[in-house]
Amino acid sequence: MNTQTYGQVEPHGAERVADGLWRLSGRPKNKVNAYVMGDVLVDSATRHATKRILRQVKGLPLRSHVLTHGHMDHMGAAHEVCEALDLPLICGEADVLAVESGARLGLENRPLPVRIEHRLIADPGHPVTDTLKEGDRVAGFSVLEVPGHAPGHLAFWREEDRVLLQLVVPDATAARQELLDRGVEVSELTVITDADGGTFFGFQDPDGNSWAVQEIKARAHKPLIPKDHVGLSEWAGR
Ligand SMILES: [Zn+2]
Repeated sequence: MNTQTYGQVEPHGAERVADGLWRLSGRPKNKVNAYVMGDVLVDSATRHATKRILRQVKGLPLRSHVLTHGHMDHMGAAHEVCEALDLPLICGEADVLAVESGARLGLENRPLPVRIEHRLIADPGHPVTDTLKEGDRVAGFSVLEVPGHAPGHLAFWREEDRVLLQLVVPDATAARQELLDRGVEVSELTVITDADGGTFFGFQDPDGNSWAVQEIKARAHKPLIPKDHVGLSEWAGR
């Protein structure tokens, strides 16, 4: 689906990340996955963030709740927030079942710590109203499909000021080395699956923002960031 740019709103007590993009506050700081992008709520952290999110978006003319992916720490408050604010819930096509089941799909086969974490933070699931795909527009951002971490994972990219909620690089090892050379502390590479899109690392920028960097080799042929802008170093310096 394509959604229009509806206009911008300012959440209460949230941190401005870029024009029209706000990170909702929570604990621990910068580990809470909930943003207001234009007038769209993007992700909703864990179940325990419900009251906090509702308080921060109180009175705002939000139009929809979009999920980057169907993991329990990104959609924990989705059900209650959508019910309370009467918002349509929107995600990537391949994550619809995960979202509607409250991340219960295949849960019985996951390791015990994951099942315990699920019990602690997951939501009951909520019907998905619509789906997004590559090239769709949401609140002035372009939708990118970045499968790997989750099959229906979406990222949001805005050309004008190169704002992205998740970094995608064609070569994670090279990008990680580039950051290390610049003195940035980065995490070890984590391979979640061998498939393209399954390799990650993380780092914190000087503002304390946590970034997930995902390797998608296919992006080498279909670059996300225009060739003349390539240079993760710029991102690191943000
Ligand atoms: Zn996740």
